[in-house]
Amino acid sequence: MLVKNKLGKVLLVGAGPGPVDLMTVRAVRAVESAGALLYDALCSEEAVALAPPGCVRIQTGKRGGKPSMKQDEINRLMLRLARRGLQVVRLKGGDPSIFGRVGEEMAFLNRFGLETEVVPGVTAACAAAAQFGFPLTHRGEARRVVFTTARVEDGAVAGDWRMGGDPEATVAVYMGAEAAPAWARALMAEGRAAGTPVAAVENAGAPHARLAEMTLAELGAAPLRRGGGPLLIVVGEVAALAANRSGHHADQRAFA
Ligand code: SAH
Repeated sequence: MLVKNKLGKVLLVGAGPGPVDLMTVRAVRAVESAGALLYDALCSEEAVALAPPGCVRIQTGKRGGKPSMKQDEINRLMLRLARRGLQVVRLKGGDPSIFGRVGEEMAFLNRFGLETEVVPGVTAACAAAAQFGFPLTHRGEARRVVFTTARVEDGAVAGDWRMGGDPEATVAVYMGAEAAPAWARALMAEGRAAGTPVAAVENAGAPHARLAEMTLAELGAAPLRRGGGPLLIVVGEVAALAANRSGHHADQRAFA
């Protein structure tokens, strides 16, 4: 019989979009009791600052083209720290289950006999919708939400965009800024109307969040100008309801 491990669980925690008051109470408690905190590039300084003095803090991802730790390296590091008896908290931007590699990390840790627990977080699409006053679903207009990501492979956009052709689907595209013109054209090729509204939100959740509004055809015509923060692009009728809140500056197409 296998000896049950006496190590604590590794907590895979969603930090939400940045501000600590958009973290769950459970997430805050997890960070406050961490012995080792491994956090990705999207985690805010505010969230990391919740860790207690003496907590081992390791940034696993870097923004702006700087090298990030390899997934395998992160996995082994979590294992090593947990085996040292530390309460390991793996903190991720947004929700860990949405483009957060949480499945891979859970599988790895479980394979080595460590239990895991996921603490959910507010994903970028929900933060963007809340901040700019548009819903992700809307009765009679948007009956589905697609969380997707976009990548260009050999000059063509990868993946299946049929679902996004559905006029009643809201399509939230993560990590899709670079490939935006290509996937916007792919959506139109799947029958999505050229005039479909698009809301691009940079730094959702933060006080300096920016909204840019355009049509799908405009998105397909030229690359987006960006300010450098994380950018989420929402396509669908609901995007027409996006409105700039006081203090947020609207700009057609550009974040400048
Ligand atoms: N787990 C995260 C997503 C990680 S993938 C979540 O649930 O939000 C990283 C991508 O998420 C970024 O490239 C960007 O497209 C999006 N993203 C994450 N945080 C964001 C934010 N605050 N504002 C806008 N987009 C964000």
